Amino acid sequence: MSWIIDQQHVNNICSTCGTRYANERKPGDICPICEDERQYVLESGQHWTNYEAIAAQHNIRITERAPRLYDLRLVPAFSIGQRAFLVQSASGNILWDCLPLIDETTVAFIRAKGGLKGIAISHPHYYSLMAVWARIFDCPVYLHEADQEWIMDKRDHIQLWGGLQQPLWDDLKLVHTPGHFPGSVVLHAPHHGYDGTVLTGDSLFVSRDRKQVSFMYSFPNYIPLPAKDVRIIDERVSPLAFDSMYSAFDGLNIQEGAKEIYERSVIRYLQAVDPQFRP
Ligand SMILES: [Zn+2]
Ligand SMILES: [Zn+2]
Repeated sequence: MSWIIDQQHVNNICSTCGTRYANERKPGDICPICEDERQYVLESGQHWTNYEAIAAQHNIRITERAPRLYDLRLVPAFSIGQRAFLVQSASGNILWDCLPLIDETTVAFIRAKGGLKGIAISHPHYYSLMAVWARIFDCPVYLHEADQEWIMDKRDHIQLWGGLQQPLWDDLKLVHTPGHFPGSVVLHAPHHGYDGTVLTGDSLFVSRDRKQVSFMYSFPNYIPLPAKDVRIIDERVSPLAFDSMYSAFDGLNIQEGAKEIYERSVIRYLQAVDPQFRP
């Protein structure tokens, strides 16, 4: 296989958030994504690494979560530690969110499942190696235009969209759910699971007990989302039909009853942050 990963030995990947930059980073260069109040810089400072160093220490583990739905994550975990999802669909597959690594085994697995027709990413924390993935699979990366200032590796494959929804194919669609980031989105897959699936990244967050969904402006810094933002998210998510929900991290899966859990969680959240709220 001819790899299209250029700059394999060049330090252009942030060790803390996993974002790949177009060009080499020097010691002392900051990562704007980590400097932002939604992320953090380690006490030991900013660190940069390269593709080869990550590939030498990590593999990608692929797990089937439901029929035609697989999650992919780095083991051992690296940087933020998010999952990506392979969503199989009749007219073409989509990768939801992205990883700071890609390897031959993963490429072969995805190709055997039909390849990728597109990549869509919930928000800038998971842009990671999106430009490399897009070149290898020669497919567009759908990003909401409200977050374009955070694109650190601008390539031809980036396809910005705006507005409330972006229809894809086979009734798959991206839904704009601003809050965590201005351009945060979720992916609605109506033909997956028992009665539809929502993949959320960090836009909505499945809690560890899988009995709650929550909302945060910053997860590592514990800054909650204002009630007005949660109401906007709810206006856009509550019309969707779904029974399962998957957010960014391993184990954060609601396999059934997700709509009911989601609706109860919105009320619980608004009661907590808005003293005037009456369900
Ligand atoms: Zn960073
Ligand atoms: Zn995030």
